[in-house]
Amino acid sequence: MSVPDQAQARAMRLSLAVGFVMLVIKMGAYLLTGSAAILGDAAESVVHVAAVVFAAYSLWLAAQPADENHRYGHSKIAFFSAGIEGGLIILAAVFIIYESIHRWIEGLTVANLGAGVLLTLSTVVINAWLGWYLIRTGRQQQSLILVANGRHVLTDGWTSLGAIVGLGLMHLTGAAWWDPVCGLIMAGNILVSGYDLLRQSVAGLMDHADPELTRQLDEALARETAARGVTFHALRHRNAGHVHYVDVHFLFPDDITLREAHRITTDIERTVMKCTEQAVHFTTHLECVGDHDELHPGDSLT
Ligand SMILES: [Zn+2]
Ligand SMILES: [Zn+2]
Ligand SMILES: [Zn+2]
Repeated sequence: MSVPDQAQARAMRLSLAVGFVMLVIKMGAYLLTGSAAILGDAAESVVHVAAVVFAAYSLWLAAQPADENHRYGHSKIAFFSAGIEGGLIILAAVFIIYESIHRWIEGLTVANLGAGVLLTLSTVVINAWLGWYLIRTGRQQQSLILVANGRHVLTDGWTSLGAIVGLGLMHLTGAAWWDPVCGLIMAGNILVSGYDLLRQSVAGLMDHADPELTRQLDEALARETAARGVTFHALRHRNAGHVHYVDVHFLFPDDITLREAHRITTDIERTVMKCTEQAVHFTTHLECVGDHDELHPGDSLT
């Protein structure tokens, strides 16, 4: 394992361990209080541990080198991981909505407020720190899996905070409906976060072209090809998780030798690679001006 892989694996192990501890604390807080908001929080924790287990598996699989059956490597698992994490968060939100409405209608009350609030507050502090750490490590290592996991952890922190605010308002005003109302607000926040993860997952699986990368590639290719008397067209790129695969056509003068064209192409590829923020891998199709339209009639030169 290389150094970045170790940093990612360490972050994920920590996330998993903390996830289990959070689950135990939240279950304890629910058993003490019987609060709808805290139950929602605990339910989210069950989902959370399941999601982190899958994220840890994804992180391991993504690091496996290309093999006979997966010749582009395994990094696309990151998009499944984000999708499953998003789907599970949404499931938790639906459960919280159900429980909040149920407890609202039943008019169930809450016990042991102080202890419940204190326990939940401790999970907020721990999750805020863990979420920040995961997102920072994920951004440094360009790991969508870690960033998604970190955002999930932060969402949990907000959920817990919502539960505390609900219990506090209930205590101050004496109105029992504050608890389920805060449960519903938290659920809304969780839904937004889950939708965002799903969107990222679908974008990755559908090879959504990052407009910023398109702009950087267009700009660098236009500059570097023009400087060498070449033009380019049919630019495509897609995100494999850890690297963006780029393919493009270069159009050369008719009298160029293959040796020369390959030399120029490699030079352009290497220069452009240094101009993009994200890691890119090139596959370039070499063509000549004279018979391009005859060989590729449908191939637009723009
Ligand atoms: Zn072409
Ligand atoms: Zn080559
Ligand atoms: Zn061709």
